[in-house]
Amino acid sequence: MELTEGVSRALHPSEVGGRYRRRRNALSVFLLAVFLLLPWLRIGGRQAVLIDPWNGQFSIFGLALWSHDAPLLLFVVGGAAVALAFVTSVWGRLWCGWACPQTVFVEFVFRRAERWIEGDAVTRRRREAGPWDGERILRKALKWALFTGFALVLSHSFLAYFIGTESLARMMSEAPSRHPGSFAAMGALTAVVLFDFGWFREQFCVLVCPYGRFQSVLMDERSLAVSYDALRGEPRRGSPGSESREGDCVSCNRCVSVCPTGIDIRAGLQMECVACTACIDACDSVMDRMKRPKGLIRYTLGRRADTAGALVRPAAYLAVLLAMIGGAAWVISKREPLEMTWVRAVGAPYEQVVSADGSRDVVNHFHVDLLNQTFEPLRVALRPGPGQASRLAVVAAALPLEVAPGRSRRVDVFVRFGPEGLSEGRGLARLEAVLGSDAWAKDLTFVKEVRLVGPLL
Ligand code: SF4
Ligand code: SF4
Repeated sequence: MELTEGVSRALHPSEVGGRYRRRRNALSVFLLAVFLLLPWLRIGGRQAVLIDPWNGQFSIFGLALWSHDAPLLLFVVGGAAVALAFVTSVWGRLWCGWACPQTVFVEFVFRRAERWIEGDAVTRRRREAGPWDGERILRKALKWALFTGFALVLSHSFLAYFIGTESLARMMSEAPSRHPGSFAAMGALTAVVLFDFGWFREQFCVLVCPYGRFQSVLMDERSLAVSYDALRGEPRRGSPGSESREGDCVSCNRCVSVCPTGIDIRAGLQMECVACTACIDACDSVMDRMKRPKGLIRYTLGRRADTAGALVRPAAYLAVLLAMIGGAAWVISKREPLEMTWVRAVGAPYEQVVSADGSRDVVNHFHVDLLNQTFEPLRVALRPGPGQASRLAVVAAALPLEVAPGRSRRVDVFVRFGPEGLSEGRGLARLEAVLGSDAWAKDLTFVKEVRLVGPLL
């Protein structure tokens, strides 16, 4: 959409072929497949990627996270933001032109369908200027029906990342009245997708996208950018000065006609440029026909000759990124399926009891906090660990202890032991915790050391 003297008119960028277009086509097929198929990928029987803030449950390629893992999520989200800043500082708007869902869906799905139904850019412009005849109405209706179908597929796929494919399939098989909230969310999302990809298009990149707004801060003149070689191109054909020496630009305006944001790259780098490379392909084909070298418009890196300080900004982003990756790796390496915290109960530090055989045992009372960090219900059995004296018993109200997925519970546990293992009233118990789940092929075992207290012998 372009504003001309206060009137907005739809932009119809011409189609373009070329080496960058072919690469972007291939990448878009890959990215579309990833977006549509990823929610259906299963790891260990669970959805591989699930972001369920309502239940505080997140799955990232098999790694089960809960809302209590907020520090780790902070590393993941912060790392993604810093990675984007690093990529932007070095490669400019590479993300926008090649991988952003806005670009991929608009250019490779919606605009492609539009060309198929309404014809190429010239035909569409001609029809736009003409009357609303039957053919135009029919083509528009067909196009918007197809757009609505795409929007429904996209919004359902998008929602599958948040509510899970199983819930999605169940909701789709039931009446909307049973899930009015989800149905309303789906309807609203479909409407937004339809509005954005069907009509608003690159205006989102220019007017709305916060990342687009940050570009100017993250990029500098050393970042990769699509630019016009003015030294070679000017004076362009038909411009003042071209009578004596004509540059390589033949003023065909092909670079402008293919631009999805409607700008002229020859005017210099502009915020509206999403680095889609369409003008590179367009100009290369013109240069080919004119038997001149390609690259009048091309990717350029380091447009500023001086290199002083060139690496400072990317190096700083990279350092922060590596620190965040390191932090996330450290947190993940320390993470166990079950977090178990033993706290001595307040009151008497120990009790002494007499066994049936007349021996005197000591009992220590603990509050044990159990936190299940998996997506499965867990059973936890406690028993004397390897190398532990035989006179040791673990008593709780109900063993094995059951802990629901992502939940924590506190249980009272009593450790009963013979006082002969104590030294100056202190000792150490090696306990073995056995974790089991119906979803696991075999149990997990880990050893927990617990400090004991008893009488001075
Ligand atoms: S496509 Fe190339 S030759 Fe044509 S106007 Fe643009 S820069 Fe000049
Ligand atoms: S100026 Fe070129 S690279 Fe930038 S948005 Fe327009 S066509 Fe794409």
